[in-house]
Amino acid sequence: MRTRRTIAVALAVIALTATAACGKEGSPNAEGGDSAAKLPTYAVKSDVKIASKALEDAKKNGKLIIGAKSDQPFLGFEDTSTGTRTGFDIEIAKMVAADLGFSPEQIDFKTINSANRETALKDGQIHLYVGTYTINDERKKSVGFAGPYYVAGQDLLVQKTNSDITGKDSVKGKNICSATGSTSVKRIKDLGGTTTEYDAYSLCVDKLLTGEVDGVTTDDAILKGFAAKNPNKLKVVGQPFSKEPYGVGMSKDDKALRDAVNDALKAHEDNGDWKKAYDATLGLSGAAAPEVPQLERY
Ligand code: GLU
Repeated sequence: MRTRRTIAVALAVIALTATAACGKEGSPNAEGGDSAAKLPTYAVKSDVKIASKALEDAKKNGKLIIGAKSDQPFLGFEDTSTGTRTGFDIEIAKMVAADLGFSPEQIDFKTINSANRETALKDGQIHLYVGTYTINDERKKSVGFAGPYYVAGQDLLVQKTNSDITGKDSVKGKNICSATGSTSVKRIKDLGGTTTEYDAYSLCVDKLLTGEVDGVTTDDAILKGFAAKNPNKLKVVGQPFSKEPYGVGMSKDDKALRDAVNDALKAHEDNGDWKKAYDATLGLSGAAAPEVPQLERY
């Protein structure tokens, strides 16, 4: 009896240890907040024929080069110790790549910040860009967009103790930090906020934590990730004041590629991958999956 119980206890310990080891891989990690265990995998299509110069170039080199963010938890985040990228944008990139015939191993992710996206696409440094990239008419003059695959809204991130920044009407005269080249920095200037600009939002968050700026502004989806990583110190105001439809950026006149990426988005939205990917990434920062936005094909 005692032996049997000892064996049972020993087995339970082994099971617990194994679960803990798995949990390390699959549970939200400290930085990127991704849940690898629940992430879908995407079947890679073969024999894809699309009349796109960018794709032909990618095929020839066996690498699809995708620009992304690397400091945005739950969206586009790179664990620099392992080089692993996680987040909703990264999943969107992987599902699109799979339908274009590229496995995750054949994606060459390049970190490109907000200010450098159009140049990177125009110069052909990257084939696609997936990184909280708002589709708008100004940008459409120089790049092409598939999507939207998500719609965010500009909001404000402040210290938890802050009570005087309550929304867009209270930013006048306040020192608000944002990223150069973003729609966020432009809008906050229009609203009369004094801006401090950096290349990336994580640098703004550092300055907010030390009290050197009064707030950080950008899309709520981005800010929620930072707040979730600093729950005792930071909060999102929660009064969004714009619509930021996220698109996959590419060369301006590559209609064949634009159509193919829209088809890929549609297929993965319809088969449930989009929702699964959302729940395992951006959903971890607290908001339930919204309705999938209507694609704006052009
Ligand atoms: N979505 C906004 C933009 O595309 C802000 C986020 C970002 O800078 O990526 O400008």
